[in-house]
Amino acid sequence: MMLRRAAVSSGIGLILVGLLVAPTAQTDMAGSTARPTVTPAAGRSADDPVNRVVAISMDGLNPRAIRVLGRSRTPNFHRMMRQGASTLNARTARELTLTLPNHTGMLTGRRIDARRGGHGVSFNTDTGTTVHRAAGRYVSSVFDVVHDHGRSTALFSTKTKFALFQRSWKPKIDRFTVDTDNARLVRKVTASLRRSPRTFTFVHLSLPDQAGHAHGFMSAAYLRAVRRSDRLLGRILSTVRSRPALRKHTLVALTADHGGSGATHADARRAANYRVPFLVWGPGVAAGRNLYGLSRGYRGPGSARTTYRGRQPIRNGDLANLVTDVLDLPRVPGSTFNRSRRLNAFR
Ligand SMILES: [Zn+2]
Repeated sequence: MMLRRAAVSSGIGLILVGLLVAPTAQTDMAGSTARPTVTPAAGRSADDPVNRVVAISMDGLNPRAIRVLGRSRTPNFHRMMRQGASTLNARTARELTLTLPNHTGMLTGRRIDARRGGHGVSFNTDTGTTVHRAAGRYVSSVFDVVHDHGRSTALFSTKTKFALFQRSWKPKIDRFTVDTDNARLVRKVTASLRRSPRTFTFVHLSLPDQAGHAHGFMSAAYLRAVRRSDRLLGRILSTVRSRPALRKHTLVALTADHGGSGATHADARRAANYRVPFLVWGPGVAAGRNLYGLSRGYRGPGSARTTYRGRQPIRNGDLANLVTDVLDLPRVPGSTFNRSRRLNAFR
């Protein structure tokens, strides 16, 4: 509505609104409230009830671990797959399979290479800089879009280097919590969901990555860490399920920054590193469906390391505009991943 009101006051605005609202959009001049009317996500009706998103990134989660452990040992990943829409064959950014670059992609919907419109975060330690300095210009995130539309945001992380994101988008992140203890962080997440749920909550968990570096990715210790992560995921899901106000309106999306095999995950040319899961669970989500089957225009990549040309695989960086889409907000400015917002999880 704010967009439309601004639009009628100037001729430039009228052109703008024509670009923003696709020809298929409902024009709802009467009775609409505070939020701008944007085309509903593919497959969803205009009265779709989702008004919150919990996004979970499991640092270093090789999707093969979910298959190897099966439903009995990872019941919550499998619950998300059975009751939600998913793929175990999504992709990281092409350039790098590292933590900060890929999380920046999830939050901004951009690739990494700044010379090609990317966010420029090619480093993996927090050096005190910002994403904007890395890119050479301001880089918008999901936090900007949600916050600028009067909604609330939170970022929970188990790694201190996520201070990069707080420093970069400080006014747009209403709550920023770092706790290197995964279980304790999840207690803070569930308490926040019960007491003061934000519109957009991003949760970063890191047990698989830690175990992978210490004992080898896909080792027995690594698989134990994935099982523990599944139990922590279960606490978040059961918090959402146990409260009707959350259950009826909350979408949970889960992906990973990279996988891993053997001692590391640094080689971006290895399938074990660039293949990640993408799971979506919540009201209206098509139960038990594969995301590639639901999302027009995407192509399942097999085992290929994909480029940015041609039909795209589902990527962890699609998360940013999945969030803006389901919340009926505009795209993240400057984003390229899921820009068409054809990533569809709904019936
Ligand atoms: Zn790592």
